Amino acid sequence: MVLKGKTALVTGGARGIGKSICEELAAAGAELAVADVRRDLAEDTAAEFRDHGVRAVAVAVDVSDSDSVAEMVRTVLAEFGKVDVLVNNAGITRDSLLIRMKEDAWDLVLAVNLKGTFNCIKAVARPMMKARSGRIVNIASVVGVMGNAGQANYSASKAGVIGLTKTAAKELAPRGITVNAVAPGYIDTEMTRMLSDEARRAFLDIIPLSRAGQPEDVARAVRFLAGPDAAYITGQVLHVDGGMVM
Ligand code: NDP
Repeated sequence: MVLKGKTALVTGGARGIGKSICEELAAAGAELAVADVRRDLAEDTAAEFRDHGVRAVAVAVDVSDSDSVAEMVRTVLAEFGKVDVLVNNAGITRDSLLIRMKEDAWDLVLAVNLKGTFNCIKAVARPMMKARSGRIVNIASVVGVMGNAGQANYSASKAGVIGLTKTAAKELAPRGITVNAVAPGYIDTEMTRMLSDEARRAFLDIIPLSRAGQPEDVARAVRFLAGPDAAYITGQVLHVDGGMVM
């Protein structure tokens, strides 16, 4: 129970990797703010946790909108009085080859994945700085490091998340706040179930461990970075990708 008494705010927490992160943090004792763009899904997920005796609230948020993010943080502070852990997990894809990519697909992916992460870090920074402690974990992606045909917008957003992680780590370290990223590889979720068989095979061919990861593989890495064992780790990118990038 290394996170007993801690409050964790997880964006995109209603399903997929975000929900698995909520499960892992709750199993370590954390109280949860499950933030997601769809209030009904966030509420269903928070209710599941409450049924298991975990203190959990649902918060509707569009992370790309700074007013919505400010409101989310106000709600969490009103409910729990603090935010100890922020996990920036909300993310989307709008894939197509660069020459065919529409401007709005570029703008939307950058707005949710990169600006959304910036908005949330900025909104929790003040209360965390006051508390002189905090943990921020950003979910990046291997494609932010290695690129991927068909994902110019997504890979640029995730590379941006990595740069943002390092800058935020440097700026917030003096106040006892760590900022790290987890870079998942090919993880079995609804996001990757949309891939063609060909794209799926292409990924499996370059994974030394020869299998897709599970959401729990990512969630355990997040739990480590959010917990006391990672107190002296900041500005790092932890790859959870079966060896795809090394
Ligand atoms: P999912 O699509 O399953 O879940 C993402 C969640 O984020 C959904 O609940 C979604 O809501 C929510 N969301 C989307 N837009 C917003 C927004 N503007 N504001 C708040 N919440 C939003 O994705 P995964 O679980 O697969 O991915 C989670 C993270 O992991 C993402 O950042 C993704 O880029 C990253 N990742 C995933 C990999 C994979 O293989 N699956 C690999 C590498 C990184 P809704 O569905 O209602 O839109």
